Amino acid sequence: MKKLSAIGIAVVVLVACILVFGQKKAVVTDYAMNTVVSVTVKARNAEELAQEAMDEIRRIEKLASPTLPGSDVYKINSAEAGTSVEVSPEICELIALCGEISAKTEGAFDITTYPLSLLWDIGAPEPEVPEAEDISEALVRVNYKAVVTDTRASTVTLMEEGMAISLGAVAKGYAADCVARLLEERGVEDALIDIGGNIYALGEKNIGIQTPFEERGEYFTAKAVEDCSVVTSGAYERCFEKDGKIYHHIIDPQTGYPARSGLESATVISKSSVLADALSTAIFVLGEEKSSDIVKSFEDVSVLVLTEEGDIREFDGN
Ligand code: AMP
Ligand code: MG
Repeated sequence: MKKLSAIGIAVVVLVACILVFGQKKAVVTDYAMNTVVSVTVKARNAEELAQEAMDEIRRIEKLASPTLPGSDVYKINSAEAGTSVEVSPEICELIALCGEISAKTEGAFDITTYPLSLLWDIGAPEPEVPEAEDISEALVRVNYKAVVTDTRASTVTLMEEGMAISLGAVAKGYAADCVARLLEERGVEDALIDIGGNIYALGEKNIGIQTPFEERGEYFTAKAVEDCSVVTSGAYERCFEKDGKIYHHIIDPQTGYPARSGLESATVISKSSVLADALSTAIFVLGEEKSSDIVKSFEDVSVLVLTEEGDIREFDGN
């Protein structure tokens, strides 16, 4: 996957085969939201629907990308501190939801970590460990409480100087939810939406959980789910090694450094992919003990963590 992104390939593969009862199966694979996306649909007009699903993912990417000039997030980040920016209602609501999740996770989930992500620049060709004083300087600008949303006026305001947000930890989940709803509205009962390992299964499916630091598709366990999302966060997704230490893309907003909480990965299973996405990131930051308490304030979530010792632990929300 990294190789693909490195050489900037945008592949579109369309495979369609006729199945019994007049249903077809179509698979569309493309590069979007900084990752490989694959949508599999079984339906009479499967190809059309799979393509429609991909268009929906691209639509959300255009709103949520922090680097695409003109996107809602780009506009928010470009505005002066204290200036309200009008955005699409769905992005305003998504950012408001992020604030609620930050509050419930004691700030472990925080979209204002973006200045730190830019500093770490994990995806750079030759990433470096930043200077401690640069990390301290960026940390000052991390504060989810200074993101003010007005869902009636559909505005977002970053209240403090130098703040910036990224929806990198929730956008894939949000997109998976939107696509799942869209396909359900079209009457689809069997589909698999895979946005860089962020999964939504329509119908009954067995979803493998990625073995960290192994080839994509190597699984250490699997979960049987139905009409449900399965999302995993892990150090292995985007990382580099320096002096024997792994530095990765999930930032602990307390320290400004990649989170080290004793976990190799955190998987959340929920009907809400956006919640699963946000929580898997937060749990990876918080570690097993704290998370098992914190998830009790969330409904419809099952958690599976893989510890650095190789143990699998499972706990549920409310
Ligand atoms: P995920 O892959 O869903 O766990 O999200 C990780 C991505 O979210 C990173 O690549 C960053 O863009 C962003 N991010 C990093 N740390 C955090 C955090 N503590 N809270 C929210 N977003 C974060
Ligand atoms: Mg996430």
